[in-house]
Amino acid sequence: MANSTLGLENQLYNYLLSISLREPDILQQLREETAKHPMGMMQIAPEQGQFMQMLVQLMGARKTLEVGVFTGYSSLCVALALPLNGQIVACDVSEEYTAIARRYWEAAGVANKIALHLRPAINTLDKLIAEGQAGTFDFAFIDADKENYEVYFERSLQLVRNGGLIVIDNVLWSGRVADPQVQDQSTLAIRTFNDKLRNDPRVTLSVVPIADGLTLALKRRWATMMEPEQN
Ligand code: CA
Repeated sequence: MANSTLGLENQLYNYLLSISLREPDILQQLREETAKHPMGMMQIAPEQGQFMQMLVQLMGARKTLEVGVFTGYSSLCVALALPLNGQIVACDVSEEYTAIARRYWEAAGVANKIALHLRPAINTLDKLIAEGQAGTFDFAFIDADKENYEVYFERSLQLVRNGGLIVIDNVLWSGRVADPQVQDQSTLAIRTFNDKLRNDPRVTLSVVPIADGLTLALKRRWATMMEPEQN
């Protein structure tokens, strides 16, 4: 995985950040603290967080879902971009990592927007569906165990409204997905997921090569004339 945009030389990457990144101090502190963590590479890139804030604001999102919180950088980005009455349902299994997230949500004054569910995300997503919350979310971000991406995507597709957006992280997986020699479980899972989504007529699709690769899947409101050709 990569926590800066793949394929850019350092000089150009630093230039990109210098002309665009508007990272508040609280996000910078969280990013720097997470970078020292042994699993710090799991953190999203700052330009990606800012891009997701753009998406959330473009959509006028109020209710969002996050599958995979880690230390909370992405949820904090989204929470800061949401209106005052915005809400995030956040799913994770790690008390340890999310303790860092909670500390920063509090410090940033957005903790009241975020409901953290500490149990396997599938259980939380199924519970939301059982409670009648299908079709009520504007936006979902999936960034958790890659073997379950397909399951998370299917549940999220039920939970977002028509015209809602699902954003999936790490779809370029540091380039390993494109290397047929690489056959580990996570790589295979992402490759299979990417292949299926390519031909999924339920969504409008774009794969954006920012950070470690970000798929945007928009739940279609109506049949369009942009059907994927089967390949
Ligand atoms: Ca990720």
